Amino acid sequence: MSAVELYFDYNATTPVDPEVLKVMAAVARDTFGNPSSSHCFGRPAEAVAATAREQVAGLIKAEAQDIYFTSGGTESDNLALKGVVLPLLLKGEKPHIIVSQVEHPAILKSCLFLEGCGARITWLEVAPDGTLAPETVAAAIQNDTVLVSLMLANNETGVLFPLSEISKITRARGVLLHTDAVQALGKVEIDVGTLGVDLLSLSGHKVYAPKGVGALWVRGGVALEPLLHGGGQENNRRSGTENLPGMAALGLACEILSANMAAEGRRIASLRDKLESELDKALDRQLTFHGHRQCRVPNTISLSVPYVDGESLLAHLDLENIAVSAGSACSSGEHRGSPVLRAMGVDDELIQGALRISLGRWTTQAEVDTFLEKFTTVVRRLWAISPLYQKISYS
Ligand code: PLP
Repeated sequence: MSAVELYFDYNATTPVDPEVLKVMAAVARDTFGNPSSSHCFGRPAEAVAATAREQVAGLIKAEAQDIYFTSGGTESDNLALKGVVLPLLLKGEKPHIIVSQVEHPAILKSCLFLEGCGARITWLEVAPDGTLAPETVAAAIQNDTVLVSLMLANNETGVLFPLSEISKITRARGVLLHTDAVQALGKVEIDVGTLGVDLLSLSGHKVYAPKGVGALWVRGGVALEPLLHGGGQENNRRSGTENLPGMAALGLACEILSANMAAEGRRIASLRDKLESELDKALDRQLTFHGHRQCRVPNTISLSVPYVDGESLLAHLDLENIAVSAGSACSSGEHRGSPVLRAMGVDDELIQGALRISLGRWTTQAEVDTFLEKFTTVVRRLWAISPLYQKISYS
């Protein structure tokens, strides 16, 4: 990455850690055997897969045998939801599923698909600060609810859902609980035992491993129909010859996080908090920050700049070689802007000026200082040509 480019979009994807890259290349070059082959090329490949499984399991305090490698977070989410619900639909049942309105499209669209197949979905509202009360989940559970799926950390705001409290409720009611932990992994401690969930999705490219690899953790004893049928890899739950370099990469990425996550999180949180308060001060306290202030991952800022359009702000920042995200824009055109902020009840005008800024492993103090200076300059330039801003400030 060139020195003049400022990457503040770690929630979109992360650069691959150089150590991870080395291991990936070594596995691709030296351990090219098929892990299913019983000869001298297959055995080392199988050993690489076994180590990777241990490393991923280690980060979430799980058993290695319960980790199933996939192609990423989207596949893990699809496998969790469809794997649990499709067998019931095929039996002619009309099972009930509960999700929040702020889930990733991998969950929301899987639910729409399952709804089309006969499932009933409850889409839970969240509080204005993006949190979700366990009682809201409890109240939504029906006699035939089979699955609750709630993200651990939100990709746009970083807000955390209280999964360990929610799991007490789902367990007592005999309902399975899946969590999309793609944005939480490596940012907060995850212990599947304490969390009490039954299925957990994760993705490599959010944790300094490459794109195209992820995993689903499934508690022992949970029945799950595979989506991919074939050679029976991953204990019959995900057929297809293994992406061994990707698995080794995700394994090492998880091991690095197991060792460094706490210190890394503290460093990133202190940069994030400083950036947030300095931005607020530099722009005359006119910014609106979204999401619960404490109950969130350490790296994410979700904010709205009044009187400017987020997309044009993004474009102007891009001209300064600053990468941030405007949040996922709905493609229909009618409801532009972040569905997550919409679900939190944020005003349309503020949604239009919303940005997500996310920091990570290689964000430095110097980068934060340059970001602050350039961001402030760009916003003031846009305010200077905004008729609305002029009207408000001179009225
Ligand atoms: N879930 C969440 C919360 C995400 O943020 C993402 C990616 O942005 C995904 C799922 C999808 O993961 P992947 O890109 O590995 O398919």
